[in-house]
Amino acid sequence: MGRGRSAGKRIAGSGASPGRRDNAGGTLPVGFLAGDGFIFPVVLVLLLFLVLLARAKPRENENDKENENEYFPEAIMRPLQLGLNRLRAVTKKPWDAGGGRRKFCRPGAPADDAGGMNNSNLRPRLRLLATGGTIAGAQTSGDGRGYTAGAFSIADLVAAVPQIAALAELTVEQVARIGSQDMNEAVWRQLAGRAQAALDDPGIAGVVITHGTDTMEETGYFLNLVLKTAKPVVLVGAMRPATAISADGPMNLYNAVAVAAAPESAGRGVLVVANDEIHFAREVAKTNTTQVGTFKSPNRGLAGLIHSGRLHYFGPTVRRHTAASEFAPLAAGGLPRVDIVYAHAGMGRELIDAAVSAGARGVVIAGVGDGNMPAAALAACTAAARAGVAVVRSSRTGGGLVERNIEVDDDAAGFVSAEELNPQKARVLLMLGLARTREAGALQELFRVY
Ligand code: ASP
Repeated sequence: MGRGRSAGKRIAGSGASPGRRDNAGGTLPVGFLAGDGFIFPVVLVLLLFLVLLARAKPRENENDKENENEYFPEAIMRPLQLGLNRLRAVTKKPWDAGGGRRKFCRPGAPADDAGGMNNSNLRPRLRLLATGGTIAGAQTSGDGRGYTAGAFSIADLVAAVPQIAALAELTVEQVARIGSQDMNEAVWRQLAGRAQAALDDPGIAGVVITHGTDTMEETGYFLNLVLKTAKPVVLVGAMRPATAISADGPMNLYNAVAVAAAPESAGRGVLVVANDEIHFAREVAKTNTTQVGTFKSPNRGLAGLIHSGRLHYFGPTVRRHTAASEFAPLAAGGLPRVDIVYAHAGMGRELIDAAVSAGARGVVIAGVGDGNMPAAALAACTAAARAGVAVVRSSRTGGGLVERNIEVDDDAAGFVSAEELNPQKARVLLMLGLARTREAGALQELFRVY
């Protein structure tokens, strides 16, 4: 570098000037490596390199090994060949937007990672709370049937649907990692607490919760009653594990984010999104063991439809919920025990007596037909009600109303009718209601209002 620039110039192209001998016996100009002329190419190469680094797409998160391995060599090599003018064109890949080369199945990501969301503040900010379920499930058996729910983290799921980044800015939190058959009051409380904290944040527009489908209707209805908010709250699950052929999780998750991000979703209570449908948490029920169209809202129908992120609402929900609910925000302290007893031909009184002996403060009968039960069971329920245990008559049919005083004299027995609530939802409302009152008339009023 100590040599003058003129020396480099002078030497270049001159066999008589001092220079290094190349292997072929020719002379390389000194300035190329060591003279002043060295500065220009070095600066140029450095500048090129910096421009490339600035333009190269960074890894979106720890899991993005595919992009990491392919992008940098391409970003560096192509512009060197084609020139800076073409850099923009050659560094874009179709799957940047489409995600077609990603899989919905990479376990082991950090649970608290935002999964590659970027930071444009033009999009609504949503909190995504994860609890596990089949949407996060990984197949375990060779034939593809067996699987473990909740095997993937929420970061895995979000990273697998990069299109979500266009809808909302997400922050994610892994609240639990269970199959929803293991959902219980402790997790409900934790979930409600985390959701309420997010909803109370003025910077958060809504909450999405990933959840197993088995008990989603119970969690959804519980949150519908205990969250104090008008912001959108959306539960989403899947019937096929994340590793399955034609997994339904990615589209369901995308649609759930779209629903939560939409201002028109506000004030509708907690919603459930699956299979291109939007359901009110109060109405929805799981009706099929394995099929993707499992969710139905048998009495009042769908809240709306969603197709690839585009929403179509049919109408508002009719019963009290969320911001207007007397159970919101959720009070501290445990809820009373409520058991469900399934009625059938030939049913005796034993299971009802057993529930009362076990300490149930309420019993919901999944009655035959219009909330009916055999005489022996009816006698046990009447005795329980006299002893101060709340008895709610619901139906195992999956649809319709259980009204008061049709074939059973509810007034005389001191029973409550569940109206449209199926047994599992009647249990949720009864638990919350019993935390406030044991009086049958007051409890019946809750079933009329909620
Ligand atoms: N057992 C699973 C669960 O509820 C089923 C599902 O998610 O679809 O977690």
